[in-house]
Amino acid sequence: MSNDQPLIPPENALGDIPNAIRTAGDLCRDATFVDSEVINKKVFDLFDANSDLLNVPVVESGEVVGLINRDSFMRSMARRFHWELYANKRCSKMMDTAAMTIDADTPISELAALLLGDRNSHRLSDGFVIKSGKKLVGTGLTSDVLAAVLFTQRLLAEQLTKANERLKTLTLTDPLTGLHNRRHFNEVFAQELKRAKRSAQSVGLIMLDIDYFKKLNDRLGHQAGDTALCEVAATLSGCLRRPSDFCFRVGGEEFAVLAVDATPESILSLSEALRRAVEDRGLNHPDHPLGIVTLSAGAALSDPKKDSTDSLYARADKALYAAKGNGRNRVTFATASD
Ligand code: GH3
Ligand code: MG
Ligand code: MG
Repeated sequence: MSNDQPLIPPENALGDIPNAIRTAGDLCRDATFVDSEVINKKVFDLFDANSDLLNVPVVESGEVVGLINRDSFMRSMARRFHWELYANKRCSKMMDTAAMTIDADTPISELAALLLGDRNSHRLSDGFVIKSGKKLVGTGLTSDVLAAVLFTQRLLAEQLTKANERLKTLTLTDPLTGLHNRRHFNEVFAQELKRAKRSAQSVGLIMLDIDYFKKLNDRLGHQAGDTALCEVAATLSGCLRRPSDFCFRVGGEEFAVLAVDATPESILSLSEALRRAVEDRGLNHPDHPLGIVTLSAGAALSDPKKDSTDSLYARADKALYAAKGNGRNRVTFATASD
């Protein structure tokens, strides 16, 4: 978190976060209210009997007139002769008259601004009284407000991280097929090529394009075209066994497969397996000479010394073009000199 960000979360930022502490009422502690006439000895007994009691609100005819803080009260009564002097006096002499009464519905952000918002703010051990409507319901502690703010900040940060991850996934995914999209391809391609250069390995790139896809759309409709695209996408990604092989939808009916640490044999056999898998799927294509959906593939292997993403891409694309020209439903492998 950078320094110029405020500690206090904006009031409406909590949205649907479960467990968030939203209002003063959420950190309300039980309180025992005493009348201002009650003597200090009674207040002492109260604190003595209940170690959880940190503040005792003092009331006069139903109105809060102050708050007795456990620490300062006990410290004061423990001083020399204080007990003798004050034990039988009215407790209202010992109270903090500046203590605030806060509505239970007050948002934590507002409460935090009130109690922690400036340098002359309250001490963390100070308390405040919480009321709901006219009813006094308990007390709160300034330190609890600070803890709530820090807790909320953590929840917000976690939510933000999750939202960013979701957003990232969305921006890298093709919504129709669920495959990685072109943007992701560009990133992974550049990154894998760089890595391969460092380790003197080769990246294999296979460009794949569905044959006569326009005819399929024209004959069976765009919806059937979309379904075929999804089927082909699932078939292609189903063929990839290694976690380091990636499949992308890079255009309308164009796909790309990246295989790291590839050899001419491995990339050719993967290309052929992909082509074959789509053919074997036997998806209906009435206007294809074979009556089924097929695709053509162009494969190329990077030269770790020479290739850039552009040059490797151009070679694979050229090989794909050759596969189309040579009759479709086939794989063409580009040699380094192509
Ligand atoms: P070739 O064998 O030479 O690749 O021919 P083709 O018909 O497959 O290629 P062409 O580039 O002429 O046509 C591609 C078609 O893909 C045109 C377009 O209507 C279709 N297309 C592109 N994106 C989508 C999409 O998201 N959904 C559907 N249903 N069709 C798409
Ligand atoms: Mg195309
Ligand atoms: Mg095509």
